[in-house]
Formats: sequence, structure tokens, C-alpha cells
Amino acid sequence: MSARVNSRKVRDETPGASHPKSPRSTQRKSAPRNDEQEKEKASCSSKLAESQKDTEENPSKDLQGAPEKAKKSQRPESAKASYASEFQENLKSRPRKSSMYIKSKEEAQPNKTAKNVEKKAATLCSASKGCTVDHNPNKVLQAALEKLKVKKSQRSESAKCVNDIQTKVTEHLKRHLDWCKDINVLKTGSYYENVKICEPDEFDVMMTVRVERVNLQPFLENGAFYSVEMKRQTKRHPLDQFVNKDNNIMASKMLTDFREKVKEAVDALPYDVQVERKKPGCPAVTLLVKEKGKNISIDFVLGLEVPSSWPEFTLDGFRIENWLSKKVKVDQRRKPFYLVPKYEGRGNAEQDGVMAKDAWRISFSHVEKYILKNHGNSKTCCEGEQKCCRKQCLKLLKYLLQRLKEKHPEEMDELCSYHAKTTLLHACAARVKDSVWAVSELSHCFQELLKDFEQNLRACELPNFFIPSQNLLNGFSKKKCKFIADLIENQRNNGFPIFC
Ligand SMILES: [Zn+2]
Repeated sequence: MSARVNSRKVRDETPGASHPKSPRSTQRKSAPRNDEQEKEKASCSSKLAESQKDTEENPSKDLQGAPEKAKKSQRPESAKASYASEFQENLKSRPRKSSMYIKSKEEAQPNKTAKNVEKKAATLCSASKGCTVDHNPNKVLQAALEKLKVKKSQRSESAKCVNDIQTKVTEHLKRHLDWCKDINVLKTGSYYENVKICEPDEFDVMMTVRVERVNLQPFLENGAFYSVEMKRQTKRHPLDQFVNKDNNIMASKMLTDFREKVKEAVDALPYDVQVERKKPGCPAVTLLVKEKGKNISIDFVLGLEVPSSWPEFTLDGFRIENWLSKKVKVDQRRKPFYLVPKYEGRGNAEQDGVMAKDAWRISFSHVEKYILKNHGNSKTCCEGEQKCCRKQCLKLLKYLLQRLKEKHPEEMDELCSYHAKTTLLHACAARVKDSVWAVSELSHCFQELLKDFEQNLRACELPNFFIPSQNLLNGFSKKKCKFIADLIENQRNNGFPIFC
């Protein structure tokens, strides 16, 4: 068993969304926004101000969300320069002292590293051309966070529209598809985790069908993809129409049926809405909505809910005992898991009579949502006076990757926000105390998080938090990993000029 899957790509491209202007005039290419990153759009033009609490729990009240979708990115067409020359160019536009200088200092004094580097970075940032932000790295980060806040009114406006569409589509499916009679809407994804970093123009809605009696067989070898066999039933099951001769549920067929009905439902909607063209390997049907001058995209992701124990591949993963407690771990593992019709590579590649396009990828986005929301070592983290910076660190990491991707769309094409989220989850599981993540430590924590990620990149190894046998950097060449690690290190050591 096993698989060679790769990371879930979460998309982030909302058609029509405005691109953030590149802040530095020295920037060579104002890279076209690339889509890959999670739904977090690059459209961060809005500056809002909402308290972290706002960001924290509200959205799920008025919205329905969905899991991180896996979407194929459409890569922008520019940027052909080789890694090396790109990187050189990049360094040229940087302040004099290169990251190498700082790195050697850092190595020499491991104990003081982070703080020293932060101080140095402050000085360096001030030297950086066009950088108008304060020299204090903490302030640079705070300013970046401010930029990222999603405007509250904007959010509830979009949420209202999305909620309405989702309700109507769901009703239509329930009425017109026999296998959708009991379909559920699952609220997950970065919007609902409050780690969305830009305008609220992308939403995910996962619609799930419960399957009680199924056998899962790993598809490929890493434990992230499965074929799903219906066990014999005494009476006819609504999903029987989608099984092949071996009783495996054919993901592609089910998705096609789902897609047709969503399209039908959309035709009757009182909105300006279009259905985006089908993309191979993408488990979502994407609606593009124009509402009050804004472009909103909604992904309806089809999912199977499997109410049984998690696959064996998860046994060594999800190590949250010391961070969130054994009890939380046991409770979460009692939850069902989900499967989405996602494959990678060629759809007609076959294994044991199952085509890739009929395989399913496992999803724990509901658990991710829960642990990001209830992320404290103490139950009250972020509820009262005691605030932590875990979510801010995640937002900053996502933003950093997004900005770097804009500059290096080709080289960073495969990178997505799920890499960022996974890095944070590993960091939380390793540095469990809330005090380590105190808000006052933001700058230091972010440095540490980036170092973790650099380490993963240099080793070309980032295990899925739930399924450690799945390497989310599988498919990335060594050269590419090193290139990205160097970019990040350079930013980290130079006070994040890309945020300025
Ligand atoms: Zn907290």
C-alpha cells in the first residue's frame, strides 16, 4: 500500500480578484498572481481592522465552509529565468549584507540566534531600498498582519451571498439526486479557521455523503489515496449506480453526476453565476459569482463521510498528546474521516483494476479546523487575557509564501498553503506550551517556524501531519526545495523586505 501522492493543493486564485500591488518599486517582475496557494487570494489590498477575536470565531455562524480544496493551479505564464539567475538577481536587490553573512554568525552563536538575527534584520531592512516600514521586525510583521485582516463587513456581505447559494444548491441536490437526500454540509477550510489572509472572495463548501459499509484499499503507497469498495448490502444502495465490476465506487462518475446537478441548480439562481470548467484531478465544482462588483468563487467539494476508525497509516501521525492532550486525540480519532475525489497524475493510470481518477484522497480538514480553533495547551488560550501567536504565525507564513510565489511563480508552483498549515501543526506539536507562543514572542516564533520549514525543504521532507508516510514535498526536486529554502532564509535574515 502506499501512494506517492502529494500535497493537497489548495488553490488560491480567484478569478478577477485584485492583485496586491508589489510594494517595492525595485521588484523586477510584478509577478502575476499565481493561483496555487490556498484559496487565500493575493488580493490583500484591503486594510482592515478587526480584532483577533473577530477573526477568530464568527464566520462559521453565518457560513458554511468546506475543506481545503485541492485545485489545480493554472500557472501564470511569465518568469522563465533559471533559479540561479533569479536568485542572484534577488540578492542583488537586497541590502549589502547577504544572508550568508548572517547565517555564519547565527551558526557561531546558536543560543542567541533568533534574537540577534532579528536585530540585524531590523537594521538591514532599514537599508533596503523602498522599505518604508519600521525597522523593528516585530512592527514589520504587525504591519503585514494588519494588511491581511479581512474586513468584517466585507466578510459578512460575501458570507450572506455564499450562504444563500449554498442553501439553494443543497436543496436542489437533495430534491433531485437520490444519493444526495441526506447530503451534509461540512464547514472547514481556512475561511472558517480564521486564517484566511486576504479578501473573502474564495469559499469552500464540502458536501458529504455518508457511506456506512465500505472497504478501503490503499491506492499507491503513501496512505493518502484509497479505492473504496462497497460491502455487500442487503438492499440496494443509492451509490450502487457508481460502482464498477469490483464494487469500487468510481469517484469520476460520482463527481460527474454531482457536477451536472450543481449546474442545474445554478441555472435557477438569482445571481450572476457561472460554473467554471472542469479541471482534471480537482474534487470541486467551482462557481464564479459576481456580487456587488466583487468576484467570489465558491468551491463545492464532494466528499464521502466514513464513520469508521481511521486508516492504519494515521497511527504514527497526529501526535497531539503533549500539545492538546491524549483525551483530545482520542476524541478526535473517534470522528469520521472524509474522502474526496482527488487524484494526481494521469487519471487513467491503473492499479489493481482501479483507475487513478476513481481513487479518493483522505481528508481531515474537519479535525484541522477543530485543533486550530482549540489550539491551546491550556483550554483557555486566546479566550481571556492570555493570547498566543500561533494563528498569526500561520497567516504570516502563508502570506510570505504567497508573496514569494508571486515573484517566482514557476519555481514555487507546487507550493501551497497546506504546506504552511502542516508546518505550523508540526511546530505546535513540538513546542507545546502556550507561553512559548505568547503574542509578545511573535517575531521569535515566526523565525522558528520559518527555520522549521527551511529544514523540511532542505531535507525535501515534510510529512503529512496525519499520515506521516505521505511526504508533502514528494515531487519537488532537490534543486527546487533548496531554492525555496534559500528564498525564505534570505527573507528571514533581512527583515522580510517582501512585506515592506
Ligand atoms: Zn492561543
